[in-house]
Parts: sequence; C-alpha cells; structure tokens
Amino acid sequence: MLDHKEFGLKIGLEIHRQMETHKLFCSCPSILTDNPGIKIMRRLIATKSELGEEDVVARYEMGKNRYVTYEYPEESSCLVEADDEPPHPVNKHALETALIVAKLLNCKITDEVHFMRKQVLDYSNTSGFQRSSLIGFDGYIETPKGKVSIQGVCLEEDAARKIKEEKDYVTYRLDRLGIPLIEVSTGPDIDDPDHAKEIAEYIGMVLKSTGRFKSGIGTIRQDVNLSIKGYPRVEVKGFQDLRSMPKVIRNEVERMLNDIKEGKKLQSHVRKVEPDSTTSYLRPMPGAARLYVESDIPAFRITEHLLNEVKIPELATERALKLEKEYGLSPQLAKEVLTRDVFFVLVDKFKKIEPNFIAKVIAEMPKELQSRYNLKLDKLKDEHFEDLFRKLERNEISRNSVLEILKEICEKGNVDYDKFKPVDENKIEKEIFEIIKKNKGASFNAVMGEIMKKFRGKIDNKKIVEIVKKEAR
Ligand SMILES: [Zn+2]
Repeated sequence: MLDHKEFGLKIGLEIHRQMETHKLFCSCPSILTDNPGIKIMRRLIATKSELGEEDVVARYEMGKNRYVTYEYPEESSCLVEADDEPPHPVNKHALETALIVAKLLNCKITDEVHFMRKQVLDYSNTSGFQRSSLIGFDGYIETPKGKVSIQGVCLEEDAARKIKEEKDYVTYRLDRLGIPLIEVSTGPDIDDPDHAKEIAEYIGMVLKSTGRFKSGIGTIRQDVNLSIKGYPRVEVKGFQDLRSMPKVIRNEVERMLNDIKEGKKLQSHVRKVEPDSTTSYLRPMPGAARLYVESDIPAFRITEHLLNEVKIPELATERALKLEKEYGLSPQLAKEVLTRDVFFVLVDKFKKIEPNFIAKVIAEMPKELQSRYNLKLDKLKDEHFEDLFRKLERNEISRNSVLEILKEICEKGNVDYDKFKPVDENKIEKEIFEIIKKNKGASFNAVMGEIMKKFRGKIDNKKIVEIVKKEAR
C-alpha cells in the first residue's frame, strides 16, 4: 500500500447538509415535490455597473444564448424563490442550528452576521448568486488520530434542483432553492484516507446529535479536497457512501502520481466520484469565489442573549457512553436505542422493567424477526411496545412470550393477548402430570413433544423440562 505521508497528501472535507426547518429567507416549507407548478422562462442579461464595468463571466454566459425555465410549485416556492421579492429576515431556527454546530465543533462565533452573495452563473439560483454567511470559524475536532481544524461553519441556502438540460436550455425546479444548509469545512490537515472517512463520520454524528437536520438521499453532500506534492488541489464531489471514501482517495492519489510520471500539464480542477470508486473530470476549478455583500439583508449582531438562548445538545457519542453506564447496555445496544425516543419513554414509564430488557425488545427482537422469520417491521408501532410492557408489568404475559407476540404483530398488525396469558404453574404441573400418565410407556422425547405442543410460549421451556423430570421420577 502507498505511504500517503510520503507524497505529502493533504485532505480537507467540505460537508453540506439540509436543515429540517422552513426555508432560509421565506416561510415556504423545505419540501421537494413532484408537482412542476407554473413555468417561468428567463434569459441572462449582463448589465454594466455604475462604473461601466461588465462582468466577463456573465458576458460569456450571455453569449451562449441559453434560456432557463423555472418550475414554480406553489406548495414550496413563493416570490422570494422567484427573485421577484426581496428575502425576508433570516430563519431564526436555522441560525440557531448553525450556532449549535459551530459550538459543538469548538469554533469561535462571529460577532456580526453578514450575508454575502456568491456568484453562481449556471442558473441554479434565480438571483445569479447564492447567499451564505460565516457563523463559526477557527474550530477543531479531537480524534484518536489527532486534531483536525475546522475552518468554517457557514449558513447557506440550497440551490434550485436541475430537472432537465439540453444544449440551448435548462430547467430547474424552485422547491429546493432556499432550503437552509450548513456548510462545515475542515482545514487541509488530514493526511490519511481512513482518517478522512472518520472525520466525515464524526461531523455527521455531530449534525445528527442536534436532531435538526434532514436525512436520506440528497440531503447531504460531501466533497473532498486533496493535493499531493507536485499536484495542485483537486476537488472531488459526489460521495454518496462514506464507506468508499478511503478507496476513492487512494485511487485518486494513484491517478495523480501517474499524471506526474507521464509529465502531464497539471491544473487545479473539479472531479466527480464514479460508481466504481474512480473519479472523472467535471470542470476547471472556479477562481476565487466572487463575493459581494448581500445588500437586501442587513448585518446583525450575535448577541450574548441569543447565544445564551441556544441550548447546546450533548453529542450522540457522549449520550451513548452514559447509556452504557446508566443502564448497563452493551455499546451496540446503546448506539441503537440512542435515537429511539420510544426507549426513553418506556424506561421512564415502566420502572419495574430493567432498561436492558426494554432495549433488547425494541432493538434486538425486531432484528431477529427480520432475520429469522423474514418478517417486515412496518406494522410494528411504538404503541405496540407500550401495550406489551404494560401487560408485562402487570404480569398479564410472561417474558417468554414477547418474541411470539411481536411476531404476531408483524404478521397481522395486532395481537390476541389472551392467547399469551401466563398459566398458573400449579395448574400446568397438574396438566403435565396427566399427559405423562396418559402416555405411560412412550419415550421421553415423545412425551416432551406432546407437552411442548400445548405449553410452548406460556411458560419458560426450562421450567417445563424441570416439571417433567420431577413428575417422571
Ligand atoms: Zn418562498
């Protein structure tokens, strides 16, 4: 394997994730829709500034003579997305979320929030720019492999969603435009492909700990910046699966080394990840970001009051450790119940039942039903667990029948608890005795089979064996 330190490998990450709240500069909900809505057609016109200057990139784009169609679904876009109305004041929940993330990543918090306009000329923003503001800077993450710096935590708006592109025109839908995004960028201090993955996972864990982000395909975008000695920075976009990150980076380093060996002309550029973990050329690296002050949104101070108002949540990793200690859960079980609110509700409600058993029932047993009986879990709801533990606490069912009960719920969507009533042990003992008497002369296994048929799930199997042995004496 390559020794990456020898090549001076430097890796930096840039992670974007959508927040679970309404849009950043209007009150439209942050939802994607299948409805294209009405269509707005536009064309880019480069205008001269007061000083008579013209933006060359804008002039170049205009020269292409393309037009753009914006689809405007009314359920998730308004005149703000259409750029026919100025932005409203910033979404406070989104701002708080950015502050929380900045704090959790040990950042310094900016005194004043200034939204900037980052020029975007691919039509993905109706205004021709993306609004972005630095919230935290100069932070760090501590990991077993060393400290990694956090350069910035920014609050941004997502771009419109590209639906279709032809030579002369492009179609975007406005539903995604304006969804609040966090952008976390690390310094280029990672020198090991596996460490890069761990850092991305750590940042993902931090975001998840806040409970304020969307999850699922398309809600997260992770880019990797990398360079080696003698090769300028390359940005690799489109990591879908973190597991493949180290492999993609290793392949990319080999590609760079090959380019150097072959004496190719080397230039900074952007690449994208391919399904086979290689990368392909996407476009040249954009020049230094063209930033302008957003004059429609007044700058505002991050006051002490606001900072005090923001509650910083515990990290998921810390919470898991506490669960292990407090409830005697295995690390695996602690990790699994961590995000299951129902676990904490049940532990609080059913104090006579050990949390470890509750964790097993809600996290392990459903998995067993999937793997052993190939059952789907969509019928199993939190209310079912609550009923089940209530019956357990009142001794109306026994622990031995829990798996059978869950199985029936998964199959039918409900369960007949009468079937699982624990039977009086003395009564069972008598009945077992009767069966043994009736089967006198039959083999032990035959008698056992007869008995198990009748009592399985009602009392502990070990108990049955015990009774049989006692009676058979
Ligand atoms: Zn809107």
